[in-house]
This record gives sequence, structure tokens and C-alpha cells, in this order.
Amino acid sequence: MVSKVVFGRGSFNQLSEILAPKRLSMNAPFIYIIDDVFKNNQWLTSRIPLAYDDKILFISTEEEPKTSQVDAIVEDIILTTKELPSGIIGIGGGSVLDLAKAVSIMLTNEGEAKDYQGWDLVKHPAIYHVGIPTISGTGAEVSRTTVLIGPEKKLGINSDFTPFDQVILDSELTKDVPKNQWFYTGMDCYIHCIESLKGTYLNTFSETYGNMSLELCKEIFLDNNLTAEESEEKLMMASWHGGMSIAYSQVGVAHAMSYALAYVLGVKHGIGNCIVFDHLEEFYPEGVKLFKAMKEKHNIMLPQGICADLSDADFDKMTTIALNLVPLWENALGKNWKQIITPKKLKELYQKM
Ligand code: NAD
Ligand code: ZN
Repeated sequence: MVSKVVFGRGSFNQLSEILAPKRLSMNAPFIYIIDDVFKNNQWLTSRIPLAYDDKILFISTEEEPKTSQVDAIVEDIILTTKELPSGIIGIGGGSVLDLAKAVSIMLTNEGEAKDYQGWDLVKHPAIYHVGIPTISGTGAEVSRTTVLIGPEKKLGINSDFTPFDQVILDSELTKDVPKNQWFYTGMDCYIHCIESLKGTYLNTFSETYGNMSLELCKEIFLDNNLTAEESEEKLMMASWHGGMSIAYSQVGVAHAMSYALAYVLGVKHGIGNCIVFDHLEEFYPEGVKLFKAMKEKHNIMLPQGICADLSDADFDKMTTIALNLVPLWENALGKNWKQIITPKKLKELYQKM
């Protein structure tokens, strides 16, 4: 679990006092990994307390984070700092938060990031790392994974060393998220709840968090009586609780299928989940019905026909990647999942998208 959290509008202003006691020496800088959407945003960057050799790395989130990108950032940090950093601070959405987590792990663990994709492969504690979300939904701020696209798969580095040491939840940072992206990443949270609550791995720990998050999602995406501020604060907490819910259960069909879409077509997580979930009535009838109502209420048009030009080889690759995510299928469909979802059936589903 994340050991320290502050919550509240404007809490980003506490960054300096939070970090000060964590500085190890003048030669051990803080490295800020920030979404480059904020590059010319004085409102945010002027509040970053740079001192000594601290530096900012602005990162493009056009593509999802890759293991090779993590390795390159780690190498750059090792070559350009006098000592290992005092801390890594990620400021952005799921992409940047995952990068920050992965970089902090790879600074203290040998080899390449791809070697650690899986469960509990990390040997040494990571560098002190802080997560500051600027868009809500993924739950990356709270989870024990960092999802990366590697040479062979899209898979997380799941470990006890992955969660942030400190998170700052300041909903004001999410105020300028574009509407479509707000919906896609928000729906990631909603889908986490449905997949957790309808899964066979469900337990009371996950259920309580999942229910709380689901109620918040309904309020945010279906009610009319929230102010923008209330909606931003609630989505931040929905994301947190949704993340807590899957931390102790698992995601399901939409995530398995969307991971493969990301790997083969580069479709990003939030929108990919929406594209897939729209076609999953068979598995999540009530969840999909509500999703369609939310989509309609917010006038969201999802891309159609994204698999239309794929070759048989592409479909094979996609179905193989998706079906390799065994815990997701087992959670969604139970121990006999292989009898329910076959490569042929999966291909037919993809062909509808
Ligand atoms: P993202 O981080 O890719 O950001 C989406 C877009 O929103 C980007 O264009 C970004 O520049 C923009 N943006 C972010 N904050 C903004 C702001 N305040 N104002 C304006 N624009 C802003 O998207 P995401 O949906 O948050 O994250 C997706 C990633 O998270 C994927 O790589 C996925 O694999 C990962 N993920 C991780 C976990 C986990 O537990 N670690 C869970 C789910 C998803
Ligand atoms: Zn997700």
C-alpha cells in the first residue's frame, strides 16, 4: 500500500515541505518526471521546488510507457547525477505515474525493466518515489503495479516495492483534462469496479472498495447535480478506491482484450477499454448497459472498425497475448475459462470492434 497520502485542493503546494526531509545530500537530486502537456504551464511548473542538481524530465505520453524508455531514463539519470537520486516524483496520468514507479525500481535493481515484468520479481527496494496524478481513473497512483509495453508483452512490474511512498491528491491539477480523455480514463475506473465486483476473485476487501468507487462513478457520470470541483474530487477518490479494489482482486475480460489492442495497434488504455467494453454485454450485462448510458449522456463517439484491416497473423498475435493473461480470465470466468473463451470466440469479438 501507499504509505503516505495528502488529499485536498491546493495540496500540491505542500510538495516542498514533503520533500525537504527526504533529501539525502546535495549530490542526490530529486528527479521530476512530468507529462509534457505541462511544459509551458507556469501555474504548475512554477510551484516545483528545484534546488541543487534537481531536474525535470518532460515526457511525451503520445505512446504508452515502454520498458526500453524506462531503461533509457535510468541510464540517463545514472550518467548525469553524482549520486543516486533522493527521489523520483511523477506528475501526470497513468503513463507518467507508471514511468516514475518503474524508474525508481530500476535505479536499484540490476538488468533491464523487461526482466521484471511479472509478479514479485523485484529484489531491492526502489528509490523513494512520489506520485501526483493530474488525471483520474487508472488507479496507478495507488496500485502495486507499473504497466509497461515490453519487447514481448504489455505487462506490469507487480511488486511490494512498486507502490508510491507518498501520493499527493490535488484535484485542482485535473481541471484542464480534455473532455474525451476525462471520459476514457474515468471509464477505466468504472471498468475496474465492474471487473472486480463481477469477478470470481472477489473478496470483502475488494468488494467494499469496489462498491464505494462504483457509487462515485454513477454520481459523477450520470447525475447532474455536481459542481466541477465536486466532480473532480469525487473522481480522484473513485480512482483511488477502484485501484484498491483491483489491488486485492483482478481485472477481467475488457483489460485482457484491451492490453492486446494496445500491444498490436498501440490503442491507449482508457479508450481501448471503452472500445472493448462496449461489446461485452455477454460477460457484464448490467455494467455494459450503464456504460452505454454514460457514453450517451456525455456524447462520446467511440472509434469503429479499428480491427477491420488486420491480417490473420495480427488476430493470432492479439488473441495469444490476451489469452496469456491467465489470472484476468480466471477472475472473469472462473477456473474453466478456457471452455468459455476460445481463440476463435475472441477473434470474433475483436472483429466487431
Ligand atoms: P495518460 O497518462 O496517457 O494521459 C492521457 C492524456 O491526458 C495525455 O495526453 C496527457 O497528456 C493528458 N493529460 C493528463 N493530465 C492532464 C491535465 N491535467 N490536463 C490536460 N491534459 C492532461 O492516460 P491515463 O489514462 O491516465 O493512463 C493510461 C496509462 O495508465 C496506460 O499506460 C495504462 O497501461 C496505465 N495504467 C496503469 C495502471 C496501474 O495500476 N499502474 C492501471 C491502469 C492503467
Ligand atoms: Zn485499467
